[in-house]
Amino acid sequence: MDDAAPLTGEPLALDLVNTLTAAGDLLATPDDLRKWQQLQADRLPDAPPEDALDAVRTVREHTKRALDRVREGKRPDPADLDALNDAQLAAPAIKALTWDGKALIAANRRTGPPASRLAAHLAEAATELLADPAVTKIRQCEADDCVMLFLPAHPRRRWCSPARCGNRVRVARHYQRHKLDEKDPAQ
Ligand SMILES: [Zn+2]
Repeated sequence: MDDAAPLTGEPLALDLVNTLTAAGDLLATPDDLRKWQQLQADRLPDAPPEDALDAVRTVREHTKRALDRVREGKRPDPADLDALNDAQLAAPAIKALTWDGKALIAANRRTGPPASRLAAHLAEAATELLADPAVTKIRQCEADDCVMLFLPAHPRRRWCSPARCGNRVRVARHYQRHKLDEKDPAQ
């Protein structure tokens, strides 16, 4: 597994917040955003326009700040909520009906510039997560140097990714025990 690749598979808004890792920002350039969009292609239908990075990072910042409060059952800063509401207002959605050849499909259709549409889509995902009672179940990975958040489907889940942090911590603990054994003359 590529350690530098963004984590995916959590609710979209958590995947977005998780692009801010302990090692750095995985959405630092328009190219980063393009790669992330490809990873999330089933949840982000549009390819991101060149100028979308700032709007996406703004949504990420306010989502993260609101999430940090709400996870602990505290009231978030109204400015963070306003920012998420405003991001959606910049590209409002209707439920549009289309005929796919066999049946009608109702899907969100947003108006507004492409960058605003992407930011609005992410802000809507953040809104759904923040208002979901499950938000208090979100946990941070137990690895000391990892800040990834996840919504555990299983209460015993400890790592953002067993392949990434789970293995790494097990290896480090094993090494640490081994080193202590060597230092202890009684062994
Ligand atoms: Zn982790």
